[in-house]
Amino acid sequence: TTPIYGVPGTAKERTFIAVKPDGVQRGLVAEIIARFERRGYKLVGLKLLVPSVGLAKEHYADLSSKPFFKSLVEYMTNGKAPVVGMVWEGPSVIKQGRVMLGATDPKAAGPGTIRGDLCLSIGRNICHGSDSAESAMKEISLWFGGRGEIVDWTSNNEEWVVSDN
Ligand code: GDP
Ligand code: MG
Repeated sequence: TTPIYGVPGTAKERTFIAVKPDGVQRGLVAEIIARFERRGYKLVGLKLLVPSVGLAKEHYADLSSKPFFKSLVEYMTNGKAPVVGMVWEGPSVIKQGRVMLGATDPKAAGPGTIRGDLCLSIGRNICHGSDSAESAMKEISLWFGGRGEIVDWTSNNEEWVVSDN
């Protein structure tokens, strides 16, 4: 069976994508999900939660020395809006997920990207996506893992979306 964090480099590659509290507050959940669905990626995990401080700190552990770390964790965890955590599956979904999100600073994000189309500020850039296979493995395991939280299913569209022949 497929590990919950997927198999990078195959059609079973998986990534962690989140709509952050500002994206939820602004009513952009459906818009962000729709872009991944329309691209042909498959939703295999979905949850709504206010993350604990511990979860947010672990998620952003690589940024713990940055001046904005404290406010970043506060904004993710204050409960003014929840986070939508998702796991998406498909070919090159880690790399393509980042491309679809656009640059971290929305002012540098290209048109056609989620950030380039829908937000303006690095501190309110509405979404998160794993930046590497290692990050995807870490983040999927961190945010998901309860029994049945990741669903391994076959899309009937798959033969029309995924083929290298
Ligand atoms: P991402 O992977 O594109 O989300 O970017 P990073 O991993 O570098 O940073 C994580 C998150 O921290 C970003 O999405 C921003 O929400 C926030 N962040 C990054 N850099 C800055 C910054 O210079 N100022 C502020 N206020 N937030 C930042
Ligand atoms: Mg990052």
